[in-house]
Amino acid sequence: KNYTKEQILHMVEEEDVEFIRLQFTDMFGVLKNIAIPVSRLMKALDNQCVINGDYIDGLGNSEENEYYLYPDLSTFTILPWRPQQGKVARFICDIYHMDGRLCESSPRSILKKVMARAKEMGYEICVRPECEFFLFHTDDNGMPTNITHEKAGYMDTTPLDLGENARRDIILTLEDMGYDIDSSRHELAPAQHEIDFLYSDMLETADKIMTFKVAARTVAKRHGLHATFMPKPSADVDGSGMHIHMKLIKNGKNVFTDPSDSRGLSKDAYGFIAGLMKHIKGMSAISNPLVNSYKRLVTGFEAPYNIIWSCRQNGALLHACHKNNGDTALELRSPDGATNPYLLFALCLAAGLEGIEKDLQAPGDINVDVRKMSREEKKKAGIDSLPANLSVALAEMEKDELIRAVLGNGFVDEYLEKKEQEWESYMEQISEWELSQYLYCM
Ligand code: GLN
Ligand code: MG
Ligand code: MG
Ligand code: MG
Repeated sequence: KNYTKEQILHMVEEEDVEFIRLQFTDMFGVLKNIAIPVSRLMKALDNQCVINGDYIDGLGNSEENEYYLYPDLSTFTILPWRPQQGKVARFICDIYHMDGRLCESSPRSILKKVMARAKEMGYEICVRPECEFFLFHTDDNGMPTNITHEKAGYMDTTPLDLGENARRDIILTLEDMGYDIDSSRHELAPAQHEIDFLYSDMLETADKIMTFKVAARTVAKRHGLHATFMPKPSADVDGSGMHIHMKLIKNGKNVFTDPSDSRGLSKDAYGFIAGLMKHIKGMSAISNPLVNSYKRLVTGFEAPYNIIWSCRQNGALLHACHKNNGDTALELRSPDGATNPYLLFALCLAAGLEGIEKDLQAPGDINVDVRKMSREEKKKAGIDSLPANLSVALAEMEKDELIRAVLGNGFVDEYLEKKEQEWESYMEQISEWELSQYLYCM
């Protein structure tokens, strides 16, 4: 929907909108916004709304501290969970410098730049995220817990699934906002849910993920539940991932498919796989950005740990889903809901394109259950594993030239510095586990 200013003014009038939120996403994937009364709408539409970057991660380290918000008119949406009289609408914004230059370190601009490069090469890419989350109880003070009394499992239905009404409301809210939902279900763990979107382009999908998380939390709260995208809230059950399915398109056709290949995959598909496999360790600092992210990526649960790709093992890090209709997709299964989706998509696309451009060779696919392989067997087969923790991921990111080129050196350095502080603060803690293991016998 490429709205004109006139159409926006008309809709705002018709719908009785009183407030406008101008939204953008910071370096760590946090949605930020300023609200303006509708009387200031013209100022916003003329790209004249200013923010101070000093306290925004990713904007604070340049000479100047003021930035302009340029609303992307196609993102105009009424927020259905806000009042129905005196409604609230929002725009997602791009960020510009005072002198009219695009702010290249804003996550949305980073993604747009990689998408433009893909377009020059004749490619478009569609993505479909699988968003997993928990719906937990809150305590007497309304604070979130990781407690649930629910006992439902994979695809269970009512009355087991207490979150079902909340999930239904979340989906209705998203549909109100124009989302196309593919399907939703109860996931494996008690109180765990999944909502899958339909394919759309990377920018639209990243915008949608950001809004979806707010919608899920807001609607869950109305049901007295807390929606969390924390990667691993409970040690003894699966964590929540955000698997990403990708399809590469050229001239309107899916170019991951080649019926003459034994696996049904094209040269472009092998190149894309090779690029992702090459950069996945450094990319983990973005796809799995928290200390907690790495507690999901352990053996014994449904999350990937080994760096393998497979056509048959749908638990692999990268699953090549060859469909009988030839509509092949690659599913990357390591990302979690804490990721900044703009940066994640920018890196997936850049890594895949590098694989195609440089004709990188994909390692062999693994079609046996790696969980049953010994250390020795894995070593023989050349199977590496994802970074074991955030600190290792940051070190991998630091030395990855492609990631530096995509995100920019200034961005990467600030990211590393702040994330290293997060790691250090975690390392200073003494956990219950350590006390129980070491206090008595050491
Ligand atoms: N929750 C699992 C993960 O962490 C995925 C489970 C599934 O979708 N089969 O990635
Ligand atoms: Mg799924
Ligand atoms: Mg799932
Ligand atoms: Mg999946």
